[in-house]
Amino acid sequence: MYLKSLVLKGFKSFADRSVLSLEPGITSVVGPNGSGKSNISDAVLWVLGERNAKNLRGQAMEDVIFAGSSARKSLGVAEVDLVLDNSDGTLPIDYDEVALTRRMYRSGESEYLINGSPARRMDFMDILHDTGLGTGTHSIISQGNLDAILASKPEDRRTLIEEAAGVLKHKQRKDRSARKLAAMDEHLARVKDVCAEAE
Ligand code: ATP
Repeated sequence: MYLKSLVLKGFKSFADRSVLSLEPGITSVVGPNGSGKSNISDAVLWVLGERNAKNLRGQAMEDVIFAGSSARKSLGVAEVDLVLDNSDGTLPIDYDEVALTRRMYRSGESEYLINGSPARRMDFMDILHDTGLGTGTHSIISQGNLDAILASKPEDRRTLIEEAAGVLKHKQRKDRSARKLAAMDEHLARVKDVCAEAE
């Protein structure tokens, strides 16, 4: 699996539809200061489901929508497509190419699509589980984060190693199941109360 292309429209400084082709062999993006290099990695993080505006170098989530310039009005929607080559079948989905799309309106409403079909944020997480790609993983290390990793506490560093070893996804599934079990226990207790009242 590899990141084949990124399509940005209305995302931060990319007002017009811009296609970034990242075929094998491309290892870096260069450009003058302020030309939008970091906005590209923000776009990758955002399309994968990032919910914290600060991790995208903004104050509010709507800061990802093109805010206008002296020559151009602001836009009402931002959209990013992340196209992954899946010809090696890494992703558990029966397509050689997988396009993950996120769209967000100024109202704050986000839409997620997988190959053009409506999906949930959680579907993105499920598809990307075994790949090391996703929000909260360390496939994207933003400026300043490297220092934070080096200075982090041993327990936090252990989390990084667990993520790299693929243990984290099992922990997340375990936590999800534990939450469901706790909710079930509550339901059961309520059913028992109702039964006791009825007797
Ligand atoms: P450097 O090399 O200095 O780190 P860079 O190439 O990484 O720069 P970015 O930080 O990606 O540059 O882009 C900064 C530019 O993006 C600024 O000109 C900023 O005004 C613009 N920008 C950020 N958010 C928006 C937005 N919502 N609408 C319009 N422009 C935006």
